[in-house]
Amino acid sequence: MSFTLRATDGAARRGTLALAHGDVETPAFMPVGTAATVKAISPDELRGIDARIILANTYHLWLRPGRETIADMGGLHAFMSWDRNILTDSGGFQVFSLEARRVLSDAGVRFKSHLDGSEHEFTPENVVGFQEALGVDVAMALDVCVKLPATPPEIDEGVRLTTAWAKRCAAARTRERTALFGIVQGGLDERARARSASELVELDLPGYAIGGLSVGETREELYRMSRFTAALLPADKPRYLMGVGTVRDLIAAVDGGVDLFDCVYPTRCGRNGRALTRTGDLAIRNAAFARDPRPLDERCGCVVCATYSRAYLSHLFRADEMLGPRLLSLHNLATLAELMRDARAAIESGAWATFRDGVFAEAPDRAAVAKA
Ligand SMILES: [Zn+2]
Repeated sequence: MSFTLRATDGAARRGTLALAHGDVETPAFMPVGTAATVKAISPDELRGIDARIILANTYHLWLRPGRETIADMGGLHAFMSWDRNILTDSGGFQVFSLEARRVLSDAGVRFKSHLDGSEHEFTPENVVGFQEALGVDVAMALDVCVKLPATPPEIDEGVRLTTAWAKRCAAARTRERTALFGIVQGGLDERARARSASELVELDLPGYAIGGLSVGETREELYRMSRFTAALLPADKPRYLMGVGTVRDLIAAVDGGVDLFDCVYPTRCGRNGRALTRTGDLAIRNAAFARDPRPLDERCGCVVCATYSRAYLSHLFRADEMLGPRLLSLHNLATLAELMRDARAAIESGAWATFRDGVFAEAPDRAAVAKA
């Protein structure tokens, strides 16, 4: 793995992340394929929007179909017929979302499956072993994602375990083609973030994620902490903000120096009849769209916008036809891919501030829905 910083403009960065399954131009948004599928979207369609890397989920794949099945099928790329890059998260976030179903110790975390109640244990070693057995391009270290709000001792304990586990993850590595990223924790506490970042940077990992955000804090807190944390990380390594994926949030985080993102937001919205545009989201079932001949977004270059009207898409959702969620998911992913492509061009040409301010001027807050 290598990361080349091609241009900077303010704190915003334009880079190329060279991984085992090809180059990823950054800033980049990674579509989420939790269960080895980006929901409703085929690998061909992902290639059509020039996705270079997607995310899959250790917790879910561990439980179903399990390590042996995927390894026997030739690894995760072969299993899901995706020949570009895959990043797997470590499962830490999902396990900590289980709350009552998990027991934490220095050794790792024991948990009960949400599927059948069966008992499992994640350790730093077996989580790295699992991700390497899948043959992924980027593996994430096992971390402790503390639920907010949290007390300072709870935050400190999360940081302590996250560092100890990252060290053990690094020591457990056996596969050159899988790059291990560490995850900075520390909640909304700058002192804890700084400690977490400095302890992880000491491990000289190939990349770093900013975790523990986008978990219910305010937008201002998210922007402040992602910018603060990004600035603590080495300039020559990729920085990945986990769980962020709205137009406004992506641009704010790129402005703070982040290179990579993932979020279920665009595909979840797509399944629920919500179309992303740079001027706000459209609730496509809305009666105002029932006879609207325009595409979802006149400026979008995606195949959905080139082919279908709002009226047709609105009809698909009202009639509960499965093509509707598919097409909206694809358009939403294309919207974020185009946003990142334009961001890269703006940084390269030294026009980042103008581009950023233009996006902010058009994009409403997450909660607001654009008028028809
Ligand atoms: Zn579109």
